[in-house]
Amino acid sequence: MANPKKLIAGNWKMNGLRAALDQVRAVIADLPSIDNDVEMAVCPPATLAAPIADLAADTRLAVGGQDCHAKASGAHTGDISAEMWADLGARYVIVGHSERRQDHGETDEIVASKATAAHRAGLTPIICVGESLEQRKAGKTVQVVTSQVRASLPQSAAGSPFVIAYEPIWAIGTGLTPTVEQVGEVHAAIRACLTNALGPAGKAPLILYGGSVKPDNAAELMHIEEVGGALVGGASLKATDFLAIARAATGD
Ligand code: PEP
Repeated sequence: MANPKKLIAGNWKMNGLRAALDQVRAVIADLPSIDNDVEMAVCPPATLAAPIADLAADTRLAVGGQDCHAKASGAHTGDISAEMWADLGARYVIVGHSERRQDHGETDEIVASKATAAHRAGLTPIICVGESLEQRKAGKTVQVVTSQVRASLPQSAAGSPFVIAYEPIWAIGTGLTPTVEQVGEVHAAIRACLTNALGPAGKAPLILYGGSVKPDNAAELMHIEEVGGALVGGASLKATDFLAIARAATGD
């Protein structure tokens, strides 16, 4: 399936008990008020994935995994394969989130293998990249991010849809956000990197911004050139905030 015009994806991380299903019901109830050009997706913890996939079936709400294993099945306790996410009805899977890169030592090579697995299963990988505060202060942001993009692309990057999420590590969960100019510079560099690597096919992938997106800063961030939507952490846990961000994506 091709990418939507804008994607607002919620990464619930390790948050949410069954009571959180009410938030998903509230998002689904308000989907008619969201522009058709905007797709909303929820990436819940594995424990809530099945009931959320059931709620989202036959609605415009997409479901995504937060990670996948590179292999399709086997002796990998605790892991979930891309095929399992696809079997559940998921459309997306996040790969290479900075928390996975940090907590689980995931390299660009591992991220690329997971993105390739996502394509094998018919999913769209959301490939996360972003610099640390030290790297930004050292003036290395564009170099770090474009190198991550190049090395994290799946084998099938030219022929199957994928999404890049630019998430400065220092902006995740901190309330800090880069300036409009800083976001614009990195997104333009990512687009140039994709077209260099893939030719015309590099124009298609959405490039999301992620890192402390909230209802009050979403409109400004979502209207920057080359920003194709948002990967939202904390604010995606509350339906009213998540919906407000989705509305801001088109200025409704
Ligand atoms: C994230 O973890 O992907 C994220 C963007 O988190 P937050 O919105 O809470 O900064």
